[in-house]
Amino acid sequence: KAKAEGKNRWLSYVPELSEAYDRRIELEQDLAKAIVEGQFELHFQPIYSPRGRTILLCEALMRWRHPTRGSVSPSEFIPLAEQNGLIKSLGSFAIEQALKAAISWPQPVGVSVNVSAKQFHRDHDLVGVIEDALRRTGVAPHRVTIEVTETTLAEDKDFVIATLHRIRALGVKVALDDFGTGYSSLSYFAELPIDMLKIDRAFVGSIATSTKARALMRAITGLAGDLNVPMIVEGVETPEQFEAVTRFAPYGVQGFLFARPMPKEDIDPIIDRRVALPAIDRPSTTTAK
Ligand code: C2E
Ligand code: MG
Ligand code: MG
Ligand code: MG
Repeated sequence: KAKAEGKNRWLSYVPELSEAYDRRIELEQDLAKAIVEGQFELHFQPIYSPRGRTILLCEALMRWRHPTRGSVSPSEFIPLAEQNGLIKSLGSFAIEQALKAAISWPQPVGVSVNVSAKQFHRDHDLVGVIEDALRRTGVAPHRVTIEVTETTLAEDKDFVIATLHRIRALGVKVALDDFGTGYSSLSYFAELPIDMLKIDRAFVGSIATSTKARALMRAITGLAGDLNVPMIVEGVETPEQFEAVTRFAPYGVQGFLFARPMPKEDIDPIIDRRVALPAIDRPSTTTAK
């Protein structure tokens, strides 16, 4: 049976390739119109405090409702938007919408927005975009976090770092996203102007079962602690992972176990009720202090 399936997959290999290519071309062409026609929407995923059991902030994640292709993943359309330059208007839209959402939430709840490397281009005033959005919405800057990845820093390092300093000068926080998946060393990380560290879900996947993953997590946690940088653990999917992660006393936890990204109208009541961690099957041996 397995063999037959493998064979079928092989036979359809070439058509699949050209189909993927067609899809890419089509999405690329549709992107500009999609912005104008309002096919993009932000979803929000809460980040919880493991101790206080409250929502600390929500991460804004872009969704594209394509008229014929259905929901398209940001992992697919963000790279396309980066290539044709549309990421700048898409990115500004995300910042504006995220802050608009935050202004309707209770004060302590913040919002984080992902920003990609191309938004740090020298001819694009990212700091101005953030400043404008703050002014227009009236959100307090300390409630806003900008998430960057290590790849962002690979592009034009000095300029990116200078920009991060200017963003922080506004009172906005900077988080290093997907930490541990890039190629930067721990010593390099110590030089970066960041307020928060988000550990990639790759570490969390095996944390309950792998001593190696736990050793890495211990090293990162130790460094983050010494540098006074709060840590958020992403991608917590099971009670076992949550239990293992709690031992490292992270500042925040995020993952499908607690909540999936959802539209504003769904997250609003959750935030309002301040439902902290929904009832989940927590292991009884939790070590959260
Ligand atoms: P990211 O910033 O690392 O976002 C976290 C991703 O992990 C999201 O995928 C989220 O839905 C997913 N996730 C959260 N919890 C879990 C979990 O427990 N298990 C698993 N398997 N996944 C989980 P999403 O929404 O598909 O976004 C993918 C990436 O696209 C984001 O990764 C971010 O790099 C980028 N992105 C999303 N929205 C924007 C945006 O507005 N602007 C830019 N520049 N990039 C964006
Ligand atoms: Mg992120
Ligand atoms: Mg991430
Ligand atoms: Mg990512």
